[in-house]
Amino acid sequence: MKKIILVLILVLVASYFFFNRTPALTTSISLEEHTQDTLVLVNRDYALAHDPKNLTAIPKNIAQNVQIREHYTVQQTMLAPLKQLFAAARADGINHFTINSTYRSGRAQQQLFDNRGEAYAQPRGHSEHQTGLSLDIGSMQGTMDATAEGAWLAQHAHEYGFILRYPQGKEAITGIAYEPWHFRYVGLPHSQLMYEKNWTLEEYLENLQSTQKYTKKIADKHYFVQYTTAQKTARIPDATSVSVSQDNRGGKIITTFLN
Ligand SMILES: [Zn+2]
Repeated sequence: MKKIILVLILVLVASYFFFNRTPALTTSISLEEHTQDTLVLVNRDYALAHDPKNLTAIPKNIAQNVQIREHYTVQQTMLAPLKQLFAAARADGINHFTINSTYRSGRAQQQLFDNRGEAYAQPRGHSEHQTGLSLDIGSMQGTMDATAEGAWLAQHAHEYGFILRYPQGKEAITGIAYEPWHFRYVGLPHSQLMYEKNWTLEEYLENLQSTQKYTKKIADKHYFVQYTTAQKTARIPDATSVSVSQDNRGGKIITTFLN
């Protein structure tokens, strides 16, 4: 009996180290080739340098529980996660979403700022909508702070790579009042960690800069996240996929999906 317990303990300890160890960095990659920039920080202090290139229209039939009245574009990379998000909500009986705003060009943003003023809009380069990674989601049945649509998203968006970008109580950090409708795509595992730690994007990037790396298991997938200030190349583990994002603060984040 004692032997069995001892073996069990050894197996547990060994698997803990196996799954939490830093993987060996065996492969060299060009940082420019894998750029997706899904973690780019845009706020009052950090401006977006360029409008995104890989924009695509949200199909009107992306999901049966979403009303899409206009031509809305987003970055291609978030379209599949967005579809999964709405499908999961529908499976939970949440059926009355609308999309109210997505990508705005730098020029459109400047017009909005000129016409409506700084109490309503950010100047060119300082709105997250210009990244093509943000969207304002509404409910047909009321405001997002008082409907099932808002409650469901606040609870589940992170499972699909999205974060509630301007939460309550974080106004001093984000510089923006609580917006229960504004969601930002950052991808997994980043959204999961931000949700667990109750971190805004600002706080997450700062923490990542000091910790430099972490491994994260979500469902049965293993992710490895690295922070680097290297410009051209970096060493990564043996991985099935890799994506690189500049953080817009002088660093880059490499996300690898391990075998
Ligand atoms: Zn918004």
